[in-house]
Amino acid sequence: MRFDIISVLPGLLDSPFAHSILQRAQKKGIAEIVVHNLRDYATNKQKSVDDYPYGGGSGMVMTIEPFAAIIEKLKAERDYDEIIFMSPDGETLNQQIANQLSIKGNIIILCGHYKGIDQRIRDIFVTREISIGDYVLSGGELPAAVLVDAVVRLIPGVLSDETSALSDSFQDGLLDAPVYTRPAEWNGHRVPDILLSGNTPEIEKWRFEQAVERTRLRRPDLLDE
Ligand code: SAH
Repeated sequence: MRFDIISVLPGLLDSPFAHSILQRAQKKGIAEIVVHNLRDYATNKQKSVDDYPYGGGSGMVMTIEPFAAIIEKLKAERDYDEIIFMSPDGETLNQQIANQLSIKGNIIILCGHYKGIDQRIRDIFVTREISIGDYVLSGGELPAAVLVDAVVRLIPGVLSDETSALSDSFQDGLLDAPVYTRPAEWNGHRVPDILLSGNTPEIEKWRFEQAVERTRLRRPDLLDE
């Protein structure tokens, strides 16, 4: 799976993809993540990628030409399944969307800045708009990193213990059960006996009950669905 992320601040994305699971996925050749500097596609002398909004008002708007240039270039090189714009007014990212995207081949992600991007870019090129929550960040880079992380860890072969993604919160419509590790007792606080019993079917049953109970208390809306 390949991601082409288009950003005016590519340096913001150096670190998120250079560690842990995302780094391993790239080393294994399962995910390819390419970050492009939008400014390289600016057509004017000042290399600017934004301009004043028509109609007045505060905040700059990102212009259509550089986005069009790089999107056309990328589309000439390979087919893309989705061109995603990270935007607070898009559909809110959830595990279901991450699952849908994890079986795609090539995806372009556009990161906005300032007041946003010229609406025509969204109308003409963008196939899907995704928000990471009801709050506004200064740019689309952190949201893009969140999206790529959520998607890549679901691609088979990325996590060493494949079942660990399947039992994560939301994956089966439930929150995850509580987890414990050594020591079995710390300052009088004991790990639940069942987890030390070695009785796998009973442990599975306990985990399921805990997951249902936690979901009922914290996110009853998930059980309604
Ligand atoms: N004026 C816009 C916000 C612009 S914020 C509005 O009110 O909707 C600048 C850029 O940051 C956006 O274009 C988007 O790419 C990114 N961004 C900010 N908050 C985001 C969020 N919650 N989810 C996804 N992207 C976001």
